[in-house]
Amino acid sequence: MRNLGYGSTNGHPEIVDFKTALLRGQAPDKGLYMPVEIPSLSSDIIESMGKMTYPDIAFTVIGQFLKNEIPSSELERIVRDAYDFDIPIQRVYDRKHVMWLSKGPTLSFKDLAARMMSRLVQFIMKNEQKHMTILTATSGDTGSAVANAFYGLDNIDCVVLFPEKEVTELQRKQMTTLGGNVKTFAVDGKFDDCQLMVKQAFTDPELECLNLSSANSINFGRLLPQLVQYFYAYSRIIKNSDEKPVMSVPCGNFGHITAGLFAKFMGLPIHRFVIATNANDEFPRFLETGIYNPIIPSRVCISNAMNVGHPSNLARIVDLYEGIMDEKGTIKKMPDLISMKRDIFAVSISDNETRETIEKVYKKYGIILDPHGAVAWAGLMRYLKHEGNWNPSISFETADPGKFSEEIIKILGVCPEIPKSLEVLKDKEERFVKIPNDYKTFSELLRKL
Ligand SMILES: *Cc1c(COP(=O)(O)O)cnc(C)c1O
Repeated sequence: MRNLGYGSTNGHPEIVDFKTALLRGQAPDKGLYMPVEIPSLSSDIIESMGKMTYPDIAFTVIGQFLKNEIPSSELERIVRDAYDFDIPIQRVYDRKHVMWLSKGPTLSFKDLAARMMSRLVQFIMKNEQKHMTILTATSGDTGSAVANAFYGLDNIDCVVLFPEKEVTELQRKQMTTLGGNVKTFAVDGKFDDCQLMVKQAFTDPELECLNLSSANSINFGRLLPQLVQYFYAYSRIIKNSDEKPVMSVPCGNFGHITAGLFAKFMGLPIHRFVIATNANDEFPRFLETGIYNPIIPSRVCISNAMNVGHPSNLARIVDLYEGIMDEKGTIKKMPDLISMKRDIFAVSISDNETRETIEKVYKKYGIILDPHGAVAWAGLMRYLKHEGNWNPSISFETADPGKFSEEIIKILGVCPEIPKSLEVLKDKEERFVKIPNDYKTFSELLRKL
């Protein structure tokens, strides 16, 4: 079988293999890697997923993109090792479901992608006897998931930048108490500032010796594992092959939804996606008006992992719909908005509506959603109101409510259950370096690592 190639959303002519895309993170022209061709899965294989476990589905879906690059016996081992926790789907009412993607070690759905990616990188580094530094910016949950996923791996350092004032104490402690090969920097700025510094570092010739790679969702290796949950969700809520579900996705940097669209392009019969954002509504506005204006600075909302004013993965979505968007958000070629609207319903949910949703869902169904999951659920409700109610649907719950207990107590007057893995953080020692919002300071510290 031939290898699948990966090209840049900015049009760089070089086509690379999966391994190169994974290790580079970003294309040389600052574009994002996209498979030249999206492999398709037959409806027979998709139908048979009803009987497969999550790791089996992961093996089938991810394998399509790797072809010869990772031996199947190795991939088989990796998916079992990465997905050793529960991913429950809960019926809320009728055929409306919530999928709990938040049961991994750091209690956010980012574990699902990070655990897979770290093991793929580990496999390659082991083979090539190289050292690498994983560099990532986080608005809350990426950092802890990535740090946890790479923690303790040989030949890899893991560096995390986070906006000092935008993460919760628990989110911070999940990253800063690991130590070892995990180094953390608290930036006096916003998530977007952290992300800009990371992007600059990747193109900085003075840092080449560090062999930097990204674990942000700009890395195709982070995106790829996220396709799996859409196939899994479909396989568990569909009763016959005529049904097409609606899936509601809480969006920040748009990696998660991009993976969903990939799944659809591979042949997964999804009726429509709901893109639910918080007050950072640049995408819903774009879909409505065709005009894209990044929100700078991004708006601070209680669903803090989604406070992104210019989602980097948007370039990939634009590319899927035959347009071109550069890394700054300038549209060089308009995507096919009509097809986009056919596949996507986009909605922005305010903090007030998020709080009301948490309250309503708790009172009506006894379920405590976290602010991110509540944005998705509110988005789904908005969709059902506009477009009718007949498709089975699923809304993704992406963080454990226990991570946002202060906010939840304010809204509900009750404390969500605090998972054990959070309890133990309280007494652990934190280690992180505070830095100004200044690239030079950061790059100098990086070189001294
Ligand atoms: C990262 C994150 C999101 C947004 O996912 P993107 O892929 O960045 O759109 C939503 N919810 C939680 C809890 C997250 O950590």
